[in-house]
Amino acid sequence: MADLPDKSSAFVDWYLAAVEAADLTDKRYPVKGMNVWTPYGLAARRLLDRVLVTEIEATGSVAVEFPLLIPETEFAKEAEHIKGFDREVFWVTRGGASPLDVPLALRPTSETAMYPIFALWVRSHRDLPLNVYQIVNVFRYDTKTTRPFVRVREIHFFEEHTCQADIAASDARVQSNLAAFRKMAEAFGLPYLAIRRPEWDKFPGAFYSIAFDAPVGGALTLQLGTVHAYRENFSRPYGIRFEAADGSQQYAQQTTFGLSERLLGAIVAVHGDEKGAALPTSVAPHEVVVVPITAAGAGATPLTVARAYADRLRAAGRRVLVDERDDRPGAKYFYWEARGVPLRLDVGRREAESGTATAVDRLGRRTTVTAAALEAEVAAALAEYDRALRGRADRAFAERFALARTLEELKDSATVRVLSWCGREECGHAIETAIGGGLLGTPEGPLPMELGPPGPCVASGETENVRWAVAARPI
Ligand SMILES: [Zn+2]
Repeated sequence: MADLPDKSSAFVDWYLAAVEAADLTDKRYPVKGMNVWTPYGLAARRLLDRVLVTEIEATGSVAVEFPLLIPETEFAKEAEHIKGFDREVFWVTRGGASPLDVPLALRPTSETAMYPIFALWVRSHRDLPLNVYQIVNVFRYDTKTTRPFVRVREIHFFEEHTCQADIAASDARVQSNLAAFRKMAEAFGLPYLAIRRPEWDKFPGAFYSIAFDAPVGGALTLQLGTVHAYRENFSRPYGIRFEAADGSQQYAQQTTFGLSERLLGAIVAVHGDEKGAALPTSVAPHEVVVVPITAAGAGATPLTVARAYADRLRAAGRRVLVDERDDRPGAKYFYWEARGVPLRLDVGRREAESGTATAVDRLGRRTTVTAAALEAEVAAALAEYDRALRGRADRAFAERFALARTLEELKDSATVRVLSWCGREECGHAIETAIGGGLLGTPEGPLPMELGPPGPCVASGETENVRWAVAARPI
């Protein structure tokens, strides 16, 4: 296989080639932006979903599943929302040969599917909080160039929807979601920033939106997910009301939390390198691949030992594959490196005879593990690999931000830009034009660089109400 394009100078080309080489998806399906999940990609996705489910359920959310089709009459109830999604909706207009009385939307997101039912579920303050999530496919007719996991028309989507009794509880739910995402990102080894979106870039219908952005290369960032506070923007049109403890009727304060297969794209984008993908152990379909090296005359011993090692590791709960294919060891190394397997155990004649294996992690670090302490030594090697992978991502993250003091400096940006902004929309748009991308907004936490107080706004020179903001280009 040919070498991958250079990640630092041709990021998008590298990303597409790395996804291809990792065998995570097949994009030859004859509908643009609707890709096939390969066995390997689906296995990784299920492991990723497991992390999301574990963390969200730890915060008291429970799973539901709502129908895929949404009647136009429900879809149109919240004006901003329909305006925001109008151009992206696939419509079902026929049932068999007959036109439908009411066209049905393929959900682009599920507010308008869930909220008419929430209005039936939420009657009293005793019904609150209502915290539910689903993991389903949503459909968006994205007209831009599609890219696997990052910009697709059929999206594997995680969405939490909640109803709270008051604004304080809804703000607390947002904070709980931010904390849950910190743990999810930790499991994937992904550094990111939580950034409050500017007014003009909020989710359609939201009161405020906080997004998680990961810098992936040059000035490019990938939005990994979002948390939104809706306040009463949906509960009013959908009639989600409850009787409060004092007997008054009140509207629910709502929040949502959305994630998608983009997380898998981010894992490839952030951790991958010139060899292909590098998967954190949490999402690796095979944490360990054992390669028996059966040179001529070596007999069956390396294969027998390799199988025995694999059996023991499986019994210890590891996901392990023995690569028994009839191919050269070098070709096998190359193959599993491109797929991002965390740890390889090579078992040749020497290892088989001495009761050892040569362990090589995806970052190329080599150690010897012994049969006597196989489970513990493999566990230690995997933990050390995850730490090193995260360390490499953190170092790259810190280098991906640079200050811009003028609009001129935003042009041809080779990094994500940190700048002073006065908060005015016209300045925001001037910043977006200069960088050729978006003003992501104001970070919720510290930036990965030394910064004093913000100076004058890069667009207007205004010195009142200035704050640090982040500008980047979307991948
Ligand atoms: Zn300004």
